[in-house]
Amino acid sequence: MSLESLLDQPEIGFFINGDFRKSKQKIDLISPLKSNPWKSLYTAQKEEANQAIQAAADAFSTWQQLPAPSRGEFLRKIGDAIIENRKTFAHIMTIEMGKAISQSSKEIDYAAGYFHWFAGEAERLYGMTIPSQYENKQLMIQPVPIGVCGIITPWNFPIAMAARKIAPALAAGCTVVCKPSPESPVSLLLLGEICRNIHLPKGVVNILAGPEKEIGQALLDSHLVKKVSFTGSTEVGRYLYRNSAATLKKLTLELGGHAPFLVFNDANLDKAITGSLVAKFRNNGQSCIAANRFLVQEEIYDAFAKKFIAATAALKVGDPLSPETDISTVLHPASKAKVQKHIDDALKQGAKAGLLGKNIYEPTVLLDITPEMLLFKEETFGPLAGLTKFKTGEDGIRLANQTEYGLAAYAYTESLSRAHALTEQLDFGIITLNDGLPSTPQASFGGMKNSGFGREGGPTGLREYLTEKYITIAY
Ligand code: NAD
Repeated sequence: MSLESLLDQPEIGFFINGDFRKSKQKIDLISPLKSNPWKSLYTAQKEEANQAIQAAADAFSTWQQLPAPSRGEFLRKIGDAIIENRKTFAHIMTIEMGKAISQSSKEIDYAAGYFHWFAGEAERLYGMTIPSQYENKQLMIQPVPIGVCGIITPWNFPIAMAARKIAPALAAGCTVVCKPSPESPVSLLLLGEICRNIHLPKGVVNILAGPEKEIGQALLDSHLVKKVSFTGSTEVGRYLYRNSAATLKKLTLELGGHAPFLVFNDANLDKAITGSLVAKFRNNGQSCIAANRFLVQEEIYDAFAKKFIAATAALKVGDPLSPETDISTVLHPASKAKVQKHIDDALKQGAKAGLLGKNIYEPTVLLDITPEMLLFKEETFGPLAGLTKFKTGEDGIRLANQTEYGLAAYAYTESLSRAHALTEQLDFGIITLNDGLPSTPQASFGGMKNSGFGREGGPTGLREYLTEKYITIAY
């Protein structure tokens, strides 16, 4: 069935063993664009979650036996089908969670990129032979898929965060049970129809929408689920870590961020402004790698602030369905509350208003932020930028590292030696130099400290879904 035909139906079910299923529970999905119900969703409960896990376990035995290049071929087909249906996917994503449509389209391409990248990586699942200390022994390491994987993803990038997990899992030979966010499940459920259309073997991909605690518990309790890969808040990440101990799951935790955006005296200001707009305002600032603390060196602070305010004021705020829109008028309720709290706290503590919008979803720039302010201490997750002045290069690095998070850090400098030193001095899993958008399927993405552990994408992303067999042969 085409995605359009699936969407024409007033209801959508959850996807188990190659089919959309219904349950006794049905909820209305409310679009944040018009605050009206736009579709009904059948929700999966514990029983259905266990059916999905069983389907994935049954499919695992044959999927892992399929030659890796054949698994890669399926992944390539999924990637191609996502691109072919870009418009439909992007439209639904915007209806569902309010992202500006141009950014929804980019997310679809980004998601497809993971399937294309890991289609190739499936063919490079190399093992190892190791020289033995004995004449009559051979030692080998053989990579093997870990098994059924539970995949739990957030609302802000409804398909890309799931693609970043599903693609390497399938490439490695694993099967998956996915649980999207209750706030944006349909974007991912559409992937079920793609899997059906390309004749992916049944049970390899299962997608459950429903109550998070119940489905989450079923995944955590099951001995059939060998790994959980989670993207979301640090708080829920810790919960999953604690509660997966009984079944000893391997975990990937992609958690919150609080990225510094350093601009040194020797930076190219125009490059820094271009990068800052993407790093801060992509998806209305609701991204884990969103720049949250602009740290600008003394000599260029005023010049940067002036240019940044002008460039921010020029961003087009409007209807998320309009292709011209940079900043959507839809902001998540939690983001609205956090932005307001951070603005109020900063102004109360002496910050200056550089740019204040009439509405909370409009971009705001605050100047003279200090480390005591909430905006400096917490992930904002909204279109609010705060600028802090620093004196020496060492001061800038110290301030950048002054956080419990360690996901991404941005730095702008034209000095080659400073750039090299920064790669050693910044305590973050992702460091960008003169680049506002590090996310790409070809590179390994992930955090340090309270931003979690594990890597997604790139040459190391496949390892997360593998375990090893060590084989010794004496002759
Ligand atoms: P969240 O932690 O509230 O929810 C994430 C997912 O976990 C959702 O699917 C939710 O339903 C599920 N969940 C919640 N409680 C659960 C439970 N008890 N058992 C099982 N599942 C449960 O996060 P969110 O608000 O959807 O997303 C925003 C957060 O995600 C931000 O902190 C952001 O930084 C982070 N994020 C991180 C990355 C990254 O790559 N590091 C990427 C995107 C978002």
